[in-house]
Amino acid sequence: MKMELFARSPKHLPIFKYTFGASGPRALIIGGVHGDEPEGVIAAQGVLAALNESFNYALQVIVIPEFNPEGIMNKQRMNSHGVDLNRNLPTKDWSPIAAKERYFPGPSAGSEPENKALVHLLETTPLDLIISLHSWNPMININGSGCQPEADILKKYTQYPIEPDIGYPTPGSLGTYAGKERNISTITFEIQRDIEFDKISKIHVPALLECLKQTEKRTRS
Ligand SMILES: [Zn+2]
Repeated sequence: MKMELFARSPKHLPIFKYTFGASGPRALIIGGVHGDEPEGVIAAQGVLAALNESFNYALQVIVIPEFNPEGIMNKQRMNSHGVDLNRNLPTKDWSPIAAKERYFPGPSAGSEPENKALVHLLETTPLDLIISLHSWNPMININGSGCQPEADILKKYTQYPIEPDIGYPTPGSLGTYAGKERNISTITFEIQRDIEFDKISKIHVPALLECLKQTEKRTRS
């Protein structure tokens, strides 16, 4: 496992990236994009701990468990600039107008340091699968082609519905940027909000680990 500094938040908090494996298809797992969704951080940290204990996969896995450390510390959705990082990516439909205040997309597309680093990662590292871990109404939101086998595994463990469309546009989101616009298989895994953390360790972490077994079967991008 290789641990690297991925980026620094606006107030210079470190954001770490952990890489496992050296060859095969590549998967990216991100937690904590929204700081008030600890369920996603718990799931990402659980996957990180499991992979660190034993890594028996013929693929590369990048884990960024706490993408928005300022939001996590402040228990708020946004970073310290008040920006919703899942509305700030430079998508074609990015707009400076927020649908609601909590979706503030930032002063310009891709303005935030967290997202600058993410865009750089996506531009320099071909990825076969992205899973972003959030919490809300339980849902497996899929964007980009080829998500179905992994989505089916998440559904098998959680009984959450698989939704190709959440019913409203999400400009500046990772699903739009990576999935819709770059056709990278991108799953936004909305874990049930306020679920006990124990359940996440028992259900969602094993589900994600089995997903990685499935991703091994892909041909490398
Ligand atoms: Zn979220």
